Amino acid sequence: MSKSDYYEVLGVSKNSDPNTIKSSYRKLAMKFHPDKNPGDKEAEKKFKEISEAYEILSNPEKKQAYDTYGHEAFSQGAGGFSEGFGGGFGSFSDIFEDFFGDFGGRSSTKREQRGQDLKYEVEIDLREAFTGIKKEISFDTLIRCDDCSGSGSEKGSGLQDCGACGGSGRTRASQGFFTVERTCSSCGGAGQVITDPCSSCNGEGRRRKNRKLEVNIPAGVEDGSRIRLSGEGAIGQNGSSPGDLYLFVSMEEHQIFGRNGTEIFCNVPISIVDASLGGTVEVPTVSGGKVKVKVPAGSQHGDQFRLNGKGMPALRSTSFGDMIISLIIEIPKNLSENQKNILREFNDELDHSNSPERSGFFSKVKDFWDGLT
Ligand SMILES: [Zn+2]
Ligand SMILES: [Zn+2]
Repeated sequence: MSKSDYYEVLGVSKNSDPNTIKSSYRKLAMKFHPDKNPGDKEAEKKFKEISEAYEILSNPEKKQAYDTYGHEAFSQGAGGFSEGFGGGFGSFSDIFEDFFGDFGGRSSTKREQRGQDLKYEVEIDLREAFTGIKKEISFDTLIRCDDCSGSGSEKGSGLQDCGACGGSGRTRASQGFFTVERTCSSCGGAGQVITDPCSSCNGEGRRRKNRKLEVNIPAGVEDGSRIRLSGEGAIGQNGSSPGDLYLFVSMEEHQIFGRNGTEIFCNVPISIVDASLGGTVEVPTVSGGKVKVKVPAGSQHGDQFRLNGKGMPALRSTSFGDMIISLIIEIPKNLSENQKNILREFNDELDHSNSPERSGFFSKVKDFWDGLT
């Protein structure tokens, strides 16, 4: 029954900053997401563990409690933090719920609480990152209630101080080892309540809606790029200004190309004969075209060629990175008797000058042995 260490679960150290924790969580959550591992109980369990660990470590209050008391902080008796863990992401297409919490300095400015920021994960492939792409995304959000114009009040009714918090918007409660200050649940931190709430939105001034939005993902984005869409988040309470929408871009792996920033890498297999005699190989480029690359006679495994400007576009710039080709020299397999004989014949023809590396190595080995006596 012993629980794993939350830091271990997320593969981060105790001193990791919130961004590191977040990005590590994000990677793991994508990997073990039930949608990606249908029917895999292990993955599902892992996903729950990851979600739970992140739930705690992403919240400064909870993290501190965990750092001090360990899992004890959340066991029954200590109370307080037992809200359901691991609540599923929806599907990959509408991962929405991961609201940025309302911690971190967003103080309870009465009535003027800005709406929540929303996070949306979007996975794109290398070609889409190369060209940039418009994507239609759909997500659950909160929009203004039209019936009360966002005020939350039935026409003509007013506001009064909240009885639960006396107008401060915050309540304090003692929970196990520590005292927690929380946003007042009666007034949602506003400090005031509506005497005659709007019947359409129960006085919230907003309602839940699935929104579709066309977003521009610029050319050159990378795995982990974050795009902020100002004011596209959830609307605040009682008509206050909306939060922002953050797009988190993750990249699918490509089957041919590797990438590091604006550089593109490609391993190109060639035959031992082409490498020996020299020739041209046709290499695909990420732009969708192809380039002919001259391979000089006597090319070796791992030799690299740089193709200027054939890499990825730099973000918000007109420049392009380079493409780097590495030769993979393939030693022939499954030889026929005839082929073997030709190779044996060929071998008889070889002299030291054909393999300077090998000859050099053995003469050094000889020196080494001679030096020992
Ligand atoms: Zn309303
Ligand atoms: Zn209150």
